[in-house]
Amino acid sequence: MFQIAIPQPVEEILSALEAAGFPAVVVGGCVRDSLLGKTPHDWDVATAARPEEMKQALSRFRLAETGIRHGTLTVRNQGEAVETTTFRQDGSYGDSRHPDTVTFTRSLETDLSRRDFTVNAMAYSPKRGLVDLFGGQEDLQAKVLRCVGNPEQRFTEDALRIVRAMRFSAVLDFSIEPATGEAILAQKERLRYLARERIADELKKLLCAPGAARILGAFAPAVWEMIPELEPCFGQQQYNPHHFGTVWEHTLAALEHAEPILPVRLAVLLHDIGKPACFSREENGVGHFYGHAAKSTEIADAVCRSLRLDNALRERVMLLVRYHDGPMIGNEKLIRRRLRQLGEEAFFQLLAVQTADTLGQAEPYRSQRLPQLAQVGELARQILAERPCLTMDALAISGRDLIAAGMNPGPEMGRVLRRLLEAVSEGELDNTSAVLLNYAQQIREKI
Ligand code: ATP
Ligand code: MG
Repeated sequence: MFQIAIPQPVEEILSALEAAGFPAVVVGGCVRDSLLGKTPHDWDVATAARPEEMKQALSRFRLAETGIRHGTLTVRNQGEAVETTTFRQDGSYGDSRHPDTVTFTRSLETDLSRRDFTVNAMAYSPKRGLVDLFGGQEDLQAKVLRCVGNPEQRFTEDALRIVRAMRFSAVLDFSIEPATGEAILAQKERLRYLARERIADELKKLLCAPGAARILGAFAPAVWEMIPELEPCFGQQQYNPHHFGTVWEHTLAALEHAEPILPVRLAVLLHDIGKPACFSREENGVGHFYGHAAKSTEIADAVCRSLRLDNALRERVMLLVRYHDGPMIGNEKLIRRRLRQLGEEAFFQLLAVQTADTLGQAEPYRSQRLPQLAQVGELARQILAERPCLTMDALAISGRDLIAAGMNPGPEMGRVLRRLLEAVSEGELDNTSAVLLNYAQQIREKI
């Protein structure tokens, strides 16, 4: 018989439930990923046992009543945390995610039929083998994402499934079955009423997936329901030799080539969002978007806030959008300064945004600029390999040493320290206390 390798701790939970007389299976993402030959990141168990019965049958494990009202118990066994849920038949989804009413059922078939997509609606246990009622295996093989049941109805019940369809298609690199695809577009207005955090969780996964650009392109009108600020990019011609298409086409092309790192992908998606508001044309017909980086930053800020993204992510995205247009091309001194100002992580993310932006542009500009950007990365890696002094902490002296040398604490001392850091990081001074104290004395006299 066909087998899935279930980890021992999960297997023990299935056995304990079965021993108490309750059918129990692993279900959903873990079955899908196992069949795809991937290692599942977690294992979900579903069972006929009601919550009270589950607690009894699993009493020898450590239990947390995480979602007990919806029939979910987190079972801890040998370091594995396994969500174990009573078979359900969902009611309506008022908040578009958690059903208002939960009806438990003893039937695995009923539980599987409430699940979103055929590839997510398979169950397995060593005792029962693979339970695939909706052709999930066939769809996995054909790389097709398809709703369980009638797609219009399934998206009406829960609009989050619309974004989930786009997300899974992008992550798995599956096509979307035509009726499911039509229903996404037909039901897209429902996305407006979803909790923004829920949309953001799905969008984050979608954006970092291999099929992100393909899906955003194919379902653009659904994207605009979630991020209306993107819509004006769609028809925006550029009339500029650097570009081959509209702002939207350029954005998708850049996204296609962007490193799959969340702040980078988000910044690439939003980097030109301010262009339509900044469009102008010379008399000779050439188009310009003066000031678009600042405008894009402003809109990116609003988009990130509206998606309730955390402040660190929002600020990083804004930084990447703000500077996407300022080329980092240049000499070693400039690169040292940028590394110091931005920090290593943001520096390389900005380089990734600029590289993606360039890859989405027209020839010959693209081929000219790419080697320059590659060289910036190469130089930056060389500089970092010397373990340079790029932060105050790494400086050979601190404020305390300056006070000991007779300087008064205050803003002036801050200025002196910053100047020292600049000089050291740009290779003008050796990072030793004697040299730095001496130099501090000199600039103090100048100030
Ligand atoms: P991953 O965790 O890798 O993102 P997953 O398939 O495990 O993928 P989850 O969001 O963890 O996705 O959901 C677990 C399972 O619950 C899904 O496989 C699906 O069967 C079901 N499910 C989740 N959300 C919905 C929904 N909105 N409508 C119907 N079924 C859902
Ligand atoms: Mg999961």
